[in-house]
Amino acid sequence: CGIVAYVGQKQAYPIIINGLRRLEYRGYDSAGVALLNGDLNIYKKKGKVADLEEHLQDKELKSTIGIGHTRWATHGEPNDINAHPHFSASGRLAIIHNGIIENYNSLRKDLINKGHEFLSETDSEVLIHFIEDIQEHNNCSLEEAVRLALTKVVGAYAIVVMSKDDPNMLIAARKGSPLVIGIGKDEFYLASDATPIVEYTNEVVYINDYEIAIIKDNELKIKDTQDVPMTPYIQTLDMEL
Ligand code: GLU
Repeated sequence: CGIVAYVGQKQAYPIIINGLRRLEYRGYDSAGVALLNGDLNIYKKKGKVADLEEHLQDKELKSTIGIGHTRWATHGEPNDINAHPHFSASGRLAIIHNGIIENYNSLRKDLINKGHEFLSETDSEVLIHFIEDIQEHNNCSLEEAVRLALTKVVGAYAIVVMSKDDPNMLIAARKGSPLVIGIGKDEFYLASDATPIVEYTNEVVYINDYEIAIIKDNELKIKDTQDVPMTPYIQTLDMEL
């Protein structure tokens, strides 16, 4: 239901937790974060953002990149396992997703036939397995695998994907669910709306339907699902909130 992500020079966890709290008004049943510090770790809990924070109190959470999510369950009951983020089969990729993948059941069956095992009942976990499967099958970049996957997906989504192999990259996309990118100095914020971003920067790019944003090595590129490059349209928000 709510998305927050960060990549830059600062510690990602406090930014993500504060952002998730700002998105609480949207309603949710669970919350989680993925952080990368050598290992790609996912922490998630049914309940409030405060419950997640309490669960993480004694954890070492150093990372300058991360993704966070508040879930409003559509596929699979609200519990710790169905909460986002979700891992790919290899554990190298993590995803957060808002919305509904309508054809997840047929994708899931195909993947199970190929040997995939799913931990959760969500449509979202199917999507990240699907992306990784495409990447392995085509031996292509992650951004190309995300693009190819999205051409096969029916439904609504805002997603952010991160990879253990690249601590300077986030890939995001949307169709039907909102997604905003905040541009700071050598850093990027992503969120479902601008409320988690405005305290850090007033330069934002609103992602449109069928667009994919690739943040890599401190640069933002946007293209559409047909692989046509787009020029990011940077808007300056009125900060008198
Ligand atoms: N369909 C996904 C799920 O049930 C995402 C729901 C949401 O937008 O939070 O986990």
